[in-house]
Amino acid sequence: MKTESISTPYDWLDRGLASIHRANWYRSTQTITSKAGTVAKVDGREMLMFASNNYLGLAGDQRLIDAAIAATEKYGTGSTGSRLVTGHLALHEELEIAIADLKNTEAALVFSSGYLANLGAISAIVGQRDLILGDAYNHSCLKKGALMSGATAIDYQHVNLTDLTEKLQQHRANYRRCLITTDSVFSMDGDLAPLPAIMDLAAEYDCMVLVDEAHGTGVFGDRGGGLTNALGIQQELIQVGTLSKALGSLGGYVAGSAKLIDYLRNRAATWIYTTGLSPADTGAAIAAIEIVKTEPMRRQQLWQNVAMLKQGLQELGINAIAFDSPIIAIAVGDILTTLQMSERLRDNGIFAPAIRPPTVPTARIRITLMATHTAEQLQKLLQCL
Ligand SMILES: *Cc1c(COP(=O)(O)O)cnc(C)c1O
Repeated sequence: MKTESISTPYDWLDRGLASIHRANWYRSTQTITSKAGTVAKVDGREMLMFASNNYLGLAGDQRLIDAAIAATEKYGTGSTGSRLVTGHLALHEELEIAIADLKNTEAALVFSSGYLANLGAISAIVGQRDLILGDAYNHSCLKKGALMSGATAIDYQHVNLTDLTEKLQQHRANYRRCLITTDSVFSMDGDLAPLPAIMDLAAEYDCMVLVDEAHGTGVFGDRGGGLTNALGIQQELIQVGTLSKALGSLGGYVAGSAKLIDYLRNRAATWIYTTGLSPADTGAAIAAIEIVKTEPMRRQQLWQNVAMLKQGLQELGINAIAFDSPIIAIAVGDILTTLQMSERLRDNGIFAPAIRPPTVPTARIRITLMATHTAEQLQKLLQCL
């Protein structure tokens, strides 16, 4: 029997993978066998880590590890059910109070990831009769959340207020509610959203605003509350973020008014129909928020590292898209050139990956800095560049 000649409903996978390869879009995983830090063992080799979202170095911090162990000892490994049934722990409440305090909001709700927080929030607050205007460079979960909501979703050009204004003038009146969505710090380019102007436009056109602070939380603001806090934005808005980047744990959140959070508890499908965050992740996140609020030194160190890399790159004549955050994206050419550069860096013991379509419109090397990088480590990166 020649089984190989029998066609199956899954044969298209070969063709699908082949076309991914042809476009140089193919990706695969690299295995890490060390604790999160500035040095990582990647596929068996020690490398300097310039690709992690662990901005404050907290993912390897002993205090978070101890908190995760203590929470596991007290509650067990799983939270055993959805939050509305058996999975609502006192620890979750403690974390939500800590997030609301960090963000200066009335309330907060913890999801199993930032991705799920955005899907759940967006699809709960707008529907078919509504409009979403989103920055073209928004994170995948804001775009998927818009699709899931059934609202009419229109992108405005990246950080372009003129375009946003035109789209509001053109479309706003045709819809019931309108939601403007934006990353605060754009995850691939590292530049910032013009939040004060967006808030003004939202007020003028009667729109809600959802800001994704995934890369802002812990990094901006006196107490690490994020870019909205650093800018002193007072108007009501919906803040979303993750516990998995500067906070070094896992999970996501929405922070806002008490009635928004109450509504989400009743309407956000990605919160209602999934198991509560694990005790370990919850405990670690509580410990992280305490450190983020009380150790501004970490943020200062991080920003010093950004300044040092900026100066070094400028001396080398290398351009970056922005130096507004610890995400520094260097555009070096087409996909193949960028991949080759990333491989050369890799050969030199530097982990700084090429980010390419479809994640971003054009290929670039994306460097992320940590508070715990030393001056010598930054010098090594600059030398290799
Ligand atoms: C990483 C990221 C998310 C997703 O957060 P997870 O907790 O990793 O699911 C959402 N939005 C932005 C902008 C991100 O960079």
